[in-house]
Amino acid sequence: MKVLVAGYQGKMGKEAVKAIKNVGFEVVGVGSDDDLLNAIKSTHPDVMVDLTTPEQVAAHTRMAIEHNLPIVVGATGLKSSDIDDLSALATHHKTGVIIAPNFSIGALLMMHCAQIAEHFYDDINIVEVHHPQKKDQPSGTALRTAAMLSKSATIQSRRQKGVIADQTVYFGGEGETFSVSHHTSDRTCFMAGLLFSIKKVMQLDCLVYGLDQLLFPNGASAPVDVF
Ligand code: NAP
Repeated sequence: MKVLVAGYQGKMGKEAVKAIKNVGFEVVGVGSDDDLLNAIKSTHPDVMVDLTTPEQVAAHTRMAIEHNLPIVVGATGLKSSDIDDLSALATHHKTGVIIAPNFSIGALLMMHCAQIAEHFYDDINIVEVHHPQKKDQPSGTALRTAAMLSKSATIQSRRQKGVIADQTVYFGGEGETFSVSHHTSDRTCFMAGLLFSIKKVMQLDCLVYGLDQLLFPNGASAPVDVF
């Protein structure tokens, strides 16, 4: 299996290349000085992974779909209108696309727990903190969390040295607060979800937004009753 990694020299890209090679797949690396279209046409990859920037990710994803190349989108910063357009294009080309704002299992569990908790609270606040080099704000994970909740939630974003990616969802109720948190201590936490996505995307013929859609296709079960 040959995997084209766009953004292979970035912080996530370097970890991804290591992880993909470790499982025995071949890697084609494409950086900002390379011609992505030419790389797609000349190297015939089986799957593309995009770990670039908010400025590039929509065009890269469109290019992959138009060449019937399954793509795993790890880069964040896509607008919801982009996701809608890409979803229609993926369906038209019958090409698999996974947009995964967060590959880590802990982050996915934090979002899943938030879906359960929202049945009991109305006051919901998502607080995300990321490293200062992060280009998009609020984070893709915070936006995905908000989209997964049926009640409205406010988002607070902070950029701070020493942090990779942290998020807490706070719930306020009568005389109590409840929160679910995820803390990233190393980018290796994203690799199991990335490898899962690389294998899974080849079986899809449409766009899937959020790994939660694949792990928990029925969503979080609603409680039988609430008080
Ligand atoms: P980064 O270190 O800035 O890396 C981005 C890389 O993309 C750089 O190497 C850059 O190359 C390259 N690039 C820019 N334009 C390009 C182009 N046209 N073609 C090919 N490569 C291009 O950022 P990062 O921390 O690795 O994060 C990358 C993305 O992943 C961000 O959107 C981030 O939010 C996201 N992310 C996702 C997850 C997840 O779980 N899904 C987790 C962490 C981060 P130059 O340096 O030459 O410009």
